[in-house]
Amino acid sequence: MALAQADRLRQLPPYLFAEIDRLKAELMAKGVDVINLGVGDPDLPTPPHIIEKLAQTAKDPANHIYPSYSGMNDFRVSVAAWYRKRFGVELDPSSEVLTLIGSKEGLAHLPLAFINPGDLALVPSPAYPVYHIATMFAGGESRFMPLVKNNGFLPDLDAIAPDVARRARIIFINYPNNPTGATADRSFYQRVVDFAREYDIIVCHDAAYTEMSFGGYKPMSFLEVPGAREVGIEFHSLSKTYNMTGWRLGFAVGNKEIIGGLGQIKSNIDSGAFNAVQWAGIAALEGDQAPVAQMQRVYEERRDILIAGLRKAGLDPEVPKATFYVWCPTPKGYKSKEFTSLLLREAGIVTTPGSGFGEPGEGYVRMALTVSKERIGEAVERIGRLSF
Ligand SMILES: *Cc1c(COP(=O)(O)O)cnc(C)c1O
Repeated sequence: MALAQADRLRQLPPYLFAEIDRLKAELMAKGVDVINLGVGDPDLPTPPHIIEKLAQTAKDPANHIYPSYSGMNDFRVSVAAWYRKRFGVELDPSSEVLTLIGSKEGLAHLPLAFINPGDLALVPSPAYPVYHIATMFAGGESRFMPLVKNNGFLPDLDAIAPDVARRARIIFINYPNNPTGATADRSFYQRVVDFAREYDIIVCHDAAYTEMSFGGYKPMSFLEVPGAREVGIEFHSLSKTYNMTGWRLGFAVGNKEIIGGLGQIKSNIDSGAFNAVQWAGIAALEGDQAPVAQMQRVYEERRDILIAGLRKAGLDPEVPKATFYVWCPTPKGYKSKEFTSLLLREAGIVTTPGSGFGEPGEGYVRMALTVSKERIGEAVERIGRLSF
């Protein structure tokens, strides 16, 4: 029997973490005390009042039926209220808000609604792999926009050839950014909106990290910019804001035709997020926000320890104002994978090679602040003992 895979599976790039996972397992089997700065998954627990709400609503049979495709009305109303309060943006809960089973789900389904085979999507590089792969799954082609230091890790829209822009259906952007930790300001979002209007391109802004910021810096919503709602949507997630990665709850907001198209795809593929999880999401958005401030303080402290230690070791990391990632250039003469491999073999530290997020990430490694400050202290001590 020949069980042939579809082309789209054979086109997938190698899994970013496969080689690292193998090496990590090998070292752990040898008894090495491995410090994992590889994964972007919060190590802090979900705040108790959110868990309590789930426990309570999970017992109610009214929540045991299929959820509504577009999400519970109460949840969408709650999202709109949060948006008004947090960003000053007014949204119609019935047409401009859509519940997602985590934002990755929505990002992955969007191209199915708006990309025909052969259409182009403008995709940042380095980036979260979903934008490119979802484009490919829809039969589209990615044109990569390099994110480099001398442009503040923002895409250079002037470098996109007009014939490419005319064929593009979607532009993906993501600020605060994974993996670079970079942030964007109003003038950047305004340029994106102008560009999208000129070429009739859908803007898809992945805003998963707007609540994970430091030192009083408050990232804005792309929808705050005039004209944004005519061209784009924004994806949010409860995953990073409330330490809820395992719960699978996110939402998309913005242009109603784009929201409608994504909703049509979803209603033919999934059947929505568990109502009890959406009730817990309401508790998160409407409840005490002190845990968010607490989360920010924890990551800021860890960031400062890591940055100081890396500098002492002779490295020159980017200092993120948001996200839990530190984007660090490799020492002279080291490619990304050579340095991650050195850190793992000689110091027992897992990091992610920047090149794994796209070619322009070559020469960097990404370190996630997802272990305690004591462990980060231990990591920088070990790095300080290396010679490179
Ligand atoms: C973590 C992350 C998300 C959130 O994914 P969920 O599916 O909502 O858990 C989205 N985008 C980026 C860039 C991320 O790093």
